[in-house]
Amino acid sequence: MVDDLTKLPGVGQSTAEKLIEAGYIDYMKIATATIGELSDIEGISEKAAAKIITAAREYCNIGFKSGVDLLNQRKTVWKLSTGSKELDSILDGGLESQSVTEFAGMFGSGKTQIMHQACVNLQCDDRIMIDDNIKDEILQKPLKAVYIDTEGTFRPERIVQMAEAIGIDGKDVLDNTFVARAYNSDMQMLFAEKIEDLIKEGHNIKLVVVDSLTSTFRNEYTGRGKLAERQQKLGRHMATLNKLADLYNCVVIVTNQVAARPDAFFGASEQAIGGHIVGHAATFRIFLRKAKGDKRVAKLYDSPHLPDAEAMFKITEKGVHD
Ligand code: ADP
Ligand code: MG
Repeated sequence: MVDDLTKLPGVGQSTAEKLIEAGYIDYMKIATATIGELSDIEGISEKAAAKIITAAREYCNIGFKSGVDLLNQRKTVWKLSTGSKELDSILDGGLESQSVTEFAGMFGSGKTQIMHQACVNLQCDDRIMIDDNIKDEILQKPLKAVYIDTEGTFRPERIVQMAEAIGIDGKDVLDNTFVARAYNSDMQMLFAEKIEDLIKEGHNIKLVVVDSLTSTFRNEYTGRGKLAERQQKLGRHMATLNKLADLYNCVVIVTNQVAARPDAFFGASEQAIGGHIVGHAATFRIFLRKAKGDKRVAKLYDSPHLPDAEAMFKITEKGVHD
């Protein structure tokens, strides 16, 4: 839906058109933009941009919230099972909406399997935990997922296999999963930005997967000289994902590679890619490790309200389970 942008201070018909052309079609988009982003648009000075953003924030009611309001907002958080009760339990029930959860680990540690399983679980009523007061709102239409695949590892047949293992129709899952293959970081960022359009077209997108978050950035921006630019773009991408999680009550899950830490003397010898940008933008961070046979260990190591903890689960032909 396009808002009437001419209600904003200093915005006439032609500026409104320029805003819309640049994708700022409603108050919320403007309210969450930065002054720099808006003043990039021809004819909008930094001063004007600041005024426009302030006004849009007022229209959207963005500002200080009381603790009670925040508690009420927390009540709208719902959870999606990972498929493993052990793993769900260290996450206090499952993957949380309104948050970004990162799974980092070496090749074969099970990141992509967890992403596939989440798409399957989204179609399984008893794998979703929703408070009664928001049940109708969330479940008003079929739940849908968007899977941004940067490594070409999405496999529909694996989805079908996992679905059949829990007695649901694999075709249903595939019907309700949009898959976007991103060959570079620009495509990846664009796909993430387009998810809002899908929602506005009426798709009830409640799960967003980015597998992998960092590989395109890592391939394209090599060398120290490119690091700042890479981090800046990655930061913008994370902001898009956080916004989706918040505004539309989505579960957002991303995968990340790990790199060896040559400087590690004590403690972890491996570290998730992306540095502080990813670290601050992800609400929950989980490290995956291969154990004996089909066993895997997940370690939750960064959460705003949960203790660090480890869980053991399995990955077999049935999918992710205890
Ligand atoms: P990554 O962390 O690199 O994304 P994956 O999630 O792709 O790793 O995990 C790959 C592993 O998952 C395989 O090595 C295998 O152990 C397991 N796996 C994948 N598909 C199946 C399957 N159909 N049956 C049993 N195990 C599987
Ligand atoms: Mg993978």
